[in-house]
Amino acid sequence: MPVTKNVQVGLTVLRTQLIGDNSMSVYFERPIGFQFEAGDWIDINFADTNLNGGKVYSLSSSPTESDLAISFRIGITPFKRQLQSVKPGDKLYISQYGNDYGFQLNDKRSSVLIAGGIGVAPFRSMVKELYDKKVRADVQLIYLNKTDDFLFKTELDIWRQHLPQLSIDYIATKDLKRKAREQQLNKLLTKGANRYYIAGAEAMVDATEHLLINRGVAVRDIRIDSFGTY
Ligand SMILES: Cc1cc2nc3c(=O)[nH]c(=O)nc-3n(C[C@H](O)[C@H](O)[C@H](O)COP(=O)(O)OP(=O)(O)OC[C@H]3O[C@@H](n4cnc5c(N)ncnc54)[C@H](O)[C@@H]3O)c2cc1C
Repeated sequence: MPVTKNVQVGLTVLRTQLIGDNSMSVYFERPIGFQFEAGDWIDINFADTNLNGGKVYSLSSSPTESDLAISFRIGITPFKRQLQSVKPGDKLYISQYGNDYGFQLNDKRSSVLIAGGIGVAPFRSMVKELYDKKVRADVQLIYLNKTDDFLFKTELDIWRQHLPQLSIDYIATKDLKRKAREQQLNKLLTKGANRYYIAGAEAMVDATEHLLINRGVAVRDIRIDSFGTY
């Protein structure tokens, strides 16, 4: 969806959940009438705080789910500390949301989704929507993570069993030098696709975009969600 700016959409925390070794999801009541597409992000703010401004998080929940969820690595910044300590009933708000970069699946076209670490968040949303709507889209998810603590792996693997045109490859990168990582990626990319989506930390997104361009993928067929330098 195009970005909707300068709003104050109230959010109420429902619960938090630790996921994997060092990550967390926060679930919110879905505000009445709040519409979004898988791949969209929200800019989250605390109503009563000394923090200066909000932060952007992809929605890891799907539009087909009743609650909203965001997922992130546990961190030490003042913002993260506050986010990690929210309790059911706490109030936050969304100041803007959507997506400017066409980061939405087109289920009529074949797609490759490349996640780096927590960059899997928007892809969880997309795959869950395919599963809930029983859409037979040709999708390949390549999930790179430092360790083999792949977030959402159990549910992704269940959904894959019901979506014959979805393939998922998990790559743990901690013992791979850059060249070996690129070789693995290149091997997995031989099938080709109409569209490529990359999400994760800036360095991973930039390196992967270069790799795709070197393979001859047109820039217009690459959609990126760059999470910055965290
Ligand atoms: C479109 C988009 C979607 C995104 N989606 C997600 C998502 O789904 N999940 C997600 O986790 N992130 C997502 N991000 C990134 C997110 O907005 C934050 O930048 C990220 O969570 C890091 O926030 P932070 O507060 O930990 O660190 P930042 O404030 O961004 O700082 C970066 C790093 O600097 C260091 N640092 C900064 N301040 C301090 C301090 N006071 N003390 C010590 N060290 C410090 C820390 O190592 C920190 O990790 C997204 C970003 C964009 C633009």
